[in-house]
Amino acid sequence: MANQGILTIAYLVAGVLFIRSLGGLSKQETAFGGNTSGMLGMGLAVAVTVIGWISTDEGTIAMPSPTGLGLLAGAIVIGAGIGGALARRVEMTGMPELVAVLHSFVGLAAVLVGISSYLAPPAGDAAHPDEAARIVHLVELWIGVAVGAITFTGSIIAWAKLRGSLSGKPLLLPGRHLLNALAALAILGLCVPFVMAPAAADGGAFGPGMIYLLVMTALASLIGVHLVMAIGGADMPVVVSLLNSYSGWAAASAGFVLSNDLLIVTGALVGASGTILSIIMCRAMNRSIWNVVFGGFGTEGGAPAAPVAGAPQGEVLELSVADVAAKLKAARSVIIVPGYGMAVARAQSAVADIAKKLKKLNVEVRFAIHPVAGRLPGHMNVLLAEAGVPYDTVLEMDEINKDFPRTDVVLVIGANDIVNPGALDDKSSPIYGMPVLEVWKSSLVVVLKRGKGAGYAGIENPLFFHAGTRMLYGDAKKSMDALAGSI
Ligand code: NDP
Repeated sequence: MANQGILTIAYLVAGVLFIRSLGGLSKQETAFGGNTSGMLGMGLAVAVTVIGWISTDEGTIAMPSPTGLGLLAGAIVIGAGIGGALARRVEMTGMPELVAVLHSFVGLAAVLVGISSYLAPPAGDAAHPDEAARIVHLVELWIGVAVGAITFTGSIIAWAKLRGSLSGKPLLLPGRHLLNALAALAILGLCVPFVMAPAAADGGAFGPGMIYLLVMTALASLIGVHLVMAIGGADMPVVVSLLNSYSGWAAASAGFVLSNDLLIVTGALVGASGTILSIIMCRAMNRSIWNVVFGGFGTEGGAPAAPVAGAPQGEVLELSVADVAAKLKAARSVIIVPGYGMAVARAQSAVADIAKKLKKLNVEVRFAIHPVAGRLPGHMNVLLAEAGVPYDTVLEMDEINKDFPRTDVVLVIGANDIVNPGALDDKSSPIYGMPVLEVWKSSLVVVLKRGKGAGYAGIENPLFFHAGTRMLYGDAKKSMDALAGSI
């Protein structure tokens, strides 16, 4: 194609925009620019791919058949419509489910691209006239479909677990690692007869090759279900980022199948950044990445992430709004710990208001962010940024944990698992080993929640019975509004 040079340059520009996007998204201050770069890159990629598709070898534009054009326009309209509608409707608290669904789409797309490419091998540049190129193409296709199927079903299970349709309890089948290994070996082994089967174009469309491909797809789908079913609720944050990385590798594999350089680059970027995020999250939760990847490796002796019957461990003491307001006004330093409940209550603006009022009274106010607070990496940072909280007062767990002993009041707003001392000293706890915000070391901890509800891990929290803890029951937004009125 005469336009190949322009296409390559446009793809390169889009690739650079995606890299800029990832770089921008790594800091709150530059996140807006990062998002803009990503949107520009994707717009360019879609436009150039469509133009490349309808241009001829001579570089002129030749309209494809009305059916082809209709299918293309239909796909863009339906895809953009579903994406736009979902993004408009979704609450911040529902983002993890949305992300899981989007990952499943990428996986499904990789499976469909692989199967359709097998049924109708690409023509022109992407055709594979010699035997070696044909084998390489078939192996790429095989890998793409396998990764796509694992991503598809794994993401559906993650979606169901995140929305509570499936229990967060890990399904630890006896011999599960052996089952996974056997399925993986079968996937590898079946690739040989698949490659040797008559090509689809030679009348083998629904012949042995296709049957091998479909059997492998079923096996990979089962692996996807099994891997995520074996992961406990407490490890779900890592699963979300891990599936993000799988979806990137699935897209990259589809890029190889379609001989599309931009899809390869973009998929690899998503795959690599998802892997890095998974490793960071595993470190933050003190989990082994292999444990999470292979689902429950080494958990045989430990307790699963099942709800533990909440036997009361002492007296729970309460404070009134007026008392909390008085304690806050008298404090020199206050740390606010936001959690999932703040997101549910949409209390972030009221929280930002209180922080402003306290600062005016010369109280030092800072925010402590746990890496898995809320239901999405960065969930709390996004909400606080939306409420206009200055970035320099928002500190990560590692930066602020040492400051709790010299803090007068800690406000825990709708957080539970991330401030659970049992994670440090209760070996039977499903979150044992996860570093937490050590709020109980401060002079006074005020926990805002509606009642006796457990957190995501479904376990009791000894913090609520601690001598220095007081509860302020009620919806976080209502309590924060009432507090703001009393300061
Ligand atoms: P938790 O889920 O542990 O606790 C939230 C608490 O908020 C509940 O105990 C609930 O108690 C309270 N709450 C709910 N609604 C309201 C409301 N309207 N007003 C006041 N309080 C409310 O949240 P954390 O942020 O502490 O911990 C996050 C958990 O989510 C961790 O276990 C993490 O592993 C998991 N997770 C995190 C992901 C991530 O990427 N960040 C992804 C998936 C899971 P009550 O009902 O009594 O009000």
